[in-house]
Amino acid sequence: MKNVLILGGGFAGVEAAIYLRKKGFGVTLVSNRDYVFVYPVSIWIPVRKREFAEVCIQLDDLKRKHDFEVIVDEVQEINTKENKVSLKNQTLTYSITS
Ligand SMILES: Cc1cc2nc3c(=O)[nH]c(=O)nc-3n(C[C@H](O)[C@H](O)[C@H](O)COP(=O)(O)OP(=O)(O)OC[C@H]3O[C@@H](n4cnc5c(N)ncnc54)[C@H](O)[C@@H]3O)c2cc1C
Repeated sequence: MKNVLILGGGFAGVEAAIYLRKKGFGVTLVSNRDYVFVYPVSIWIPVRKREFAEVCIQLDDLKRKHDFEVIVDEVQEINTKENKVSLKNQTLTYSITS
């Protein structure tokens, strides 16, 4: 199985993760927070129509439902010459295949 590394767990990253899992790829998603923040709904927080927690979807829940890996960590550097992604707490390597 080919594996895909996705950096960022917002709408784009999570949508890509779910789509690629459905297409049979293994997926590892890296994000610096353990939830997706649903920005459109967040406008209701200041007027107290929504609580912060209601505007968050836990990545763990999405991971269980869609069967992808999640690493909660901060991306610090993407080194495309050495195919390395430096996170605050570990370094990931990747290869590019067609
Ligand atoms: C108040 C508000 C209302 C909006 N309403 C709408 C709407 O009604 N309709 C609409 O289409 N769009 C709306 N948008 C825009 C929409 O939210 C964005 O277009 C969308 O969130 C972009 O998704 P994204 O995944 O590209 O980026 P983001 O949602 O910004 O996701 C990026 C992710 O990467 C993570 N990340 C960032 N840096 C790092 C790092 N160094 N290491 C690891 N992880 C990192 C972040 O934590 C985040 O989870 C709204 C935006 C705002 C602010």
